[in-house]
Amino acid sequence: VTTRSAWILAIGDELVLGRCADTNSSLLARRLSERGFAVRGITVVGDALDDVAAAIRAAAAQTDLVVATGGLGPTEDDRTRHAAARAAGVELRFDEEGWTGIRSYFARLGRPIPDSNRRQALLPESAERLPNASGSAPGFALPIGAARFVALPGVPRELAAMLDAELLPRLDRWFGGAGALALRELHLLGPSEATAGERLAPWLAERTDATIGITASGGLLTLRVAARAAEAAAAGAAADAIVAELRPRVAEWIVLDGDGPLAAAALARLRASGLRLALAESCTGGMLAQQLTDVAGSSDVLLAGYVCYANDAKSRDLGVDARLLDKHGAVSVEVAAAMAEGGARRSGADVALAVTGIAGPSGGSAHKPVGTVCFGMWRSSRSDAWQLRIADLGRDFIRRRACHECWGALLRALGST
Ligand code: ATP
Ligand code: MG
Repeated sequence: VTTRSAWILAIGDELVLGRCADTNSSLLARRLSERGFAVRGITVVGDALDDVAAAIRAAAAQTDLVVATGGLGPTEDDRTRHAAARAAGVELRFDEEGWTGIRSYFARLGRPIPDSNRRQALLPESAERLPNASGSAPGFALPIGAARFVALPGVPRELAAMLDAELLPRLDRWFGGAGALALRELHLLGPSEATAGERLAPWLAERTDATIGITASGGLLTLRVAARAAEAAAAGAAADAIVAELRPRVAEWIVLDGDGPLAAAALARLRASGLRLALAESCTGGMLAQQLTDVAGSSDVLLAGYVCYANDAKSRDLGVDARLLDKHGAVSVEVAAAMAEGGARRSGADVALAVTGIAGPSGGSAHKPVGTVCFGMWRSSRSDAWQLRIADLGRDFIRRRACHECWGALLRALGST
């Protein structure tokens, strides 16, 4: 299977001014890599015509595919069409069919069409128009030198739609099937990226056939294995074989053997077991509930999420005994266990998770420093509780690490690893 190369171009002054994060490129890079393209680089460039044309030319000179986003709007500062025409050495033409499409888009919205939108019907002479069903700006594709150049809108929602509807189907046509790619994930809690890397280094050094990536986020390590073959079944088998070698090397750290995010996996596991969940959160302030409800269709599993910050609320809403709070403090395994039990009893859930901790920056003590977090899990009418000293890498890290801990514990308890 030959590997094609690609370059991504993000165009817009808002990007180089730091007013807008370039999420389009991440999406494109992910999708193109999954399709077997080697993404060699990402260029972010402002709206200046010369800069855009130069960036297009440079990218097209060294890769098979260049995908640009942004600069297709109706205003004077949207110049991707002009820059592409210049880089290709062709003129712009007025595309009547494109103009009809733009007019009917405005008609659907029931809005008058400003004259400036005519600009969006301009295309480089040799270009093919790519219809945009969710916006006014059509994209386009044309050859520049030996490369295929594709321009897509900058609005993320429009880009995502056109990526699936217009770009991906053309890739097979232009470049032939890239073969099938199989991706597998293992999620680890416990080691640092460096520790896991050291453990795997000798094994990785002997492998030339596999792409294995490690990423870390909120203390959760994700190992990604990619294997490519002509057919999907062969790619899948190759990826499985690599994971089978990898698994025993990191076994004690695995919290999820499969695709993340952890909350989605936990949700699926609870649903498969017919279990309903309650969440009792203090220092995570609803983050667990947020992560679970980010997954569409969580309502058959999640019964209730309680955010109880104050001691009074822990007593009133979760039935935590005030004497327990006095004796052990709000951040204690005793209170975490009681919060989990209270969450389950109040809601009628089968399983409950509780988290109470010191996320900082203030509130720590010598005995309970910032990063001390206690967890409770109620299951089969009993509570388990444990404590973690999370590295103080900031409030956000501590809270995200705490959420990973909850989902990881739940997945382990439900026997998913
Ligand atoms: P439109 O016809 O809607 O104007 P366009 O192709 O001209 O489309 P831009 O004007 O460049 O798109 O960008 C529109 C908006 O999309 C920007 O204001 C920004 O919010 C968002 N956007 C643009 N480029 C990116 C990017 N690379 N990553 C994330 N968001 C982006
Ligand atoms: Mg713009």
